[in-house]
Amino acid sequence: MGKYKKNRPRHHYRRYAPGLGAKKSRVKKAFSQSGLVLHGNIVVGKAVIFLQGEFGFPTRFYGERGFKITSPFGPRPDPFNPGKTDFHTGIDYGGRPQGTLVQTTVGGTVFAAKMYGGWGNLVGITDSRGYNHLFAHLQAISVRPGQTVARGDAVGTLGSTGQATGPHLHYQINRPGAGVSGNGYFGDPDRYYFEEEVEEVERAIVLGSDADYCNAAPLRDRLNCPVFFRSALVQLAKVSTIYICGGPIESVREAAPNAKLINLSGSNRFETAAKISSHLASI
Ligand SMILES: [Zn+2]
Repeated sequence: MGKYKKNRPRHHYRRYAPGLGAKKSRVKKAFSQSGLVLHGNIVVGKAVIFLQGEFGFPTRFYGERGFKITSPFGPRPDPFNPGKTDFHTGIDYGGRPQGTLVQTTVGGTVFAAKMYGGWGNLVGITDSRGYNHLFAHLQAISVRPGQTVARGDAVGTLGSTGQATGPHLHYQINRPGAGVSGNGYFGDPDRYYFEEEVEEVERAIVLGSDADYCNAAPLRDRLNCPVFFRSALVQLAKVSTIYICGGPIESVREAAPNAKLINLSGSNRFETAAKISSHLASI
């Protein structure tokens, strides 16, 4: 469901970049160089950023439960209008039989639990940050509006109600206030960060500033671990190894006193890039 939005990256920039505390022009330049997409409530003292690429929290969540992606987020051939292009505003998970329990990726309050046209049987959950998580095409619904749910609770069973070509879960995350609007999506659900997941992170890359994005990307791809600003480290209760890819080591040591620190930070960006490359060659 939904339409393609040409101005999406600019929208993200305007909405989130000012909260980074960096100069807008520098952030804008880093965006255009890296194809970076930011999301979430980024404020000083609580910033989490995933660089372009997949960390895949929802996909990992459903993958651990035997589901597979049957249609990713983004442009695709329209399944209902041959020859036309559609913009897929969520991720489809299938590979399990009709009637399989569908669990919620996130805790929160149920705000929708009924048949909604093309969505079929839909459950909507608002999380602690106000984002609306949608679980569509369910065969049966097992929650009611106003109910509080925890991550992992069943919300219904896998089905093909509404506009669906077979049993699958359409999972979409809408911006705060967007409710069940098809075009209210914030972006790729795999780029959303879940507070519950962030608490479980064991390895992380820490940046000194927005200018370190491009340097850190190859390391992130190799280690498949998320990237943070140092101000977010306080949330990483279980982190055991931190790769510092820019900025001083002291504040990281303070925020994560029990973690092993691997310092790849140079006195300038070029030195940092060189240290990251030689570390990559050694692992
Ligand atoms: Zn879908």
